[in-house]
Amino acid sequence: MHRLTLNLPDWIGPLLAAPLPDLSSVDARMRLAIDLARRNVESGTGGPFGALVFDLDAGRLVSVGVNVVLATRCSVAHAELMALALAQQACGGFDLGAAGLGRHELVTSSEPCAMCFGAIPWSGVRRLVCGARDADARAIGFDEGPKPTDWVRALDERGIEVEQDRLRDEARAVLRAYAEAGGAIYNARGLDVSKT
Ligand SMILES: [Zn+2]
Repeated sequence: MHRLTLNLPDWIGPLLAAPLPDLSSVDARMRLAIDLARRNVESGTGGPFGALVFDLDAGRLVSVGVNVVLATRCSVAHAELMALALAQQACGGFDLGAAGLGRHELVTSSEPCAMCFGAIPWSGVRRLVCGARDADARAIGFDEGPKPTDWVRALDERGIEVEQDRLRDEARAVLRAYAEAGGAIYNARGLDVSKT
């Protein structure tokens, strides 16, 4: 056991091979992140979360991610971390903020959990855009973990701009649809988040 392979679902390849919508607006990028979350649910390939990394200077989609925790049997395989790791592979280095690279933006259908929040400063992204709120994910039973209440400021202090509530209603609708369809809720051991 000395190798780690994390794959996105098979439907991602054809999706990216087809002509993509114009992603020049933040709304369009969030729509794609939400669409990834929705497709992940409808395809039965994971949780209701989608993300992407966009090069703001080149105006180019760098990577996408969806939640593949169940399929990969890996608790870190959240949409944001998949998108960040794939972007780093695509850019040839662990730091998306390295000299010579464009400014990178992470767009996520749902506010990052404690783990993904922790990964963001190390990723090198300069901007974060979130759709649904932490509270929206908690409302259907997902545990978002012990994130600082002033997490937006914490990122801002590290030079990472944060935008919240972009198309929040559309993003929240995917979470609700997942819950109503009886989708699996997987959390840290022994914590009933409905009481927090
Ligand atoms: Zn996460």
